[in-house]
Amino acid sequence: MKNNFAEINVSFTTQEAIDEAKRCLNCKNPLCMQGCPIEHNIPGFINQLSMGNIGAAMQIINEKSNLPAICGRVCPHEKQCEGHCILNKRNNPVKVGKLERFIADFDSNMNLIKERLKPKTRGKVAVVGSGPAGLTVAGDLAREGFNVMVFEGQKEPGGVLMYGIPEYRLPKDIVRREIKKIEALGVTFVNDFLVGEKMTVDQMLEREFDAVFIGSGTSVPKTLDIPGITLYRVSQSSYFLRMVNLYNNGDISRIAVPLIEGENIAVIGAGNVAMDAARTALRMGAKSVSVIYRGVEEEIPALKTEYNEAVEEGVQFLWQSRTVECIGENNTLKAIRVETPEGEKIIPMDRVFISIGSKPANRIVSTSLGIEVNENGYVITKDYPYGMTTRKGVFAGGDVVHTPQTVVLAMREAKQVAKGIAQYVDAVKLLNS
Ligand code: FAD
Repeated sequence: MKNNFAEINVSFTTQEAIDEAKRCLNCKNPLCMQGCPIEHNIPGFINQLSMGNIGAAMQIINEKSNLPAICGRVCPHEKQCEGHCILNKRNNPVKVGKLERFIADFDSNMNLIKERLKPKTRGKVAVVGSGPAGLTVAGDLAREGFNVMVFEGQKEPGGVLMYGIPEYRLPKDIVRREIKKIEALGVTFVNDFLVGEKMTVDQMLEREFDAVFIGSGTSVPKTLDIPGITLYRVSQSSYFLRMVNLYNNGDISRIAVPLIEGENIAVIGAGNVAMDAARTALRMGAKSVSVIYRGVEEEIPALKTEYNEAVEEGVQFLWQSRTVECIGENNTLKAIRVETPEGEKIIPMDRVFISIGSKPANRIVSTSLGIEVNENGYVITKDYPYGMTTRKGVFAGGDVVHTPQTVVLAMREAKQVAKGIAQYVDAVKLLNS
């Protein structure tokens, strides 16, 4: 079963990567950079790669990103760099994502770059959560001479990168390798440590930290208000994906994964999480997987590539359809009642996964003073110093501030917040000196 989770997009060979890099036109006004939320110097690193200077290419990437092997794999390139590439007019953009990934993997495999570290004298910062937002803040502040400790509630750092996105799209060893590089910048990781339970933000500020960054994401899944939603075998896609990642990691046994081989599965919702759940269900041996979506095909929120790959793998789609009831027997799911354009249908089903979004938990804000959230639970932040919450010295960024977005948008936000934290800590130290 595990082989089913082998990475599906294979990497370039060195020859292929250099040939691909040579296709870049090195435009005077590079549109690819405009399409990249963190404004990577894409022509710069591609140009170095085209001449075989992989270390120099990596140095350019390091100026903007702490997670290139990850972004190279999971960014929505079709909407960003590659979508903006001038060669996309002929439907053949430079494969920027694959090139970024090639350079980052090559650097890790060959251990090319050793960064010179600044002494950690500027202050001490606690980072809560180790998803893309927390990792970015931690890496950027460590590079700038801050002493950074990351507190993560899970057994391993990485957030959605480790426990959400499936192995076949993002191998967990790649995530671990990127995190090792951040550790090498002098960042300390404390895992299995739920802030709000083991220590509050108030205590962090009282005890040793000059500032705290909250990058705790959105861990509370939204649910449907329909009859039968609490039946056995109706659960969240995010829970299923997490259990499969734990299983693939050898942390839990197969029986703990909520899917039995041969089952018929319905996935409610059609975003990227739904595509991941559907494709993962097939890999875990589901007999059939049907995505139920209230809109038409053209409105599907998932990325086109994700949708196309799901179709290729055999996922079925019920368009303009609404699940109105989960029907059970002995408290166990047996069927779903669905309103379709052809009328109401009762479809026998063994299991349902819900993928209709998620929102922040309140464990941190409810245990510390003065961190205000909006009516949906998202943390409110200011523009100056960038990312500071309504509590002085406490900052936030990533999905816990915005509705769930993407890895690179969480990173973009976090980069700005890291600057805001540095400004704040420097200013406080100056005032107290
Ligand atoms: P997260 O990644 O959610 O990290 C938050 C971290 O905080 C977690 O590790 C959590 O354990 C920790 N935490 C929470 N509370 C506490 C606490 N009290 N104490 C200590 N630690 C705590 N985006 C893309 O760009 N491309 C994709 O292909 C893609 N696929 C996705 C697939 C899935 C299944 C999901 C769920 C999301 C996907 N996304 C994708 C979205 C992307 O992963 C998120 O936007 C991004 O991870 C948000 O980063 P973050 O750091 O804000 O939060």
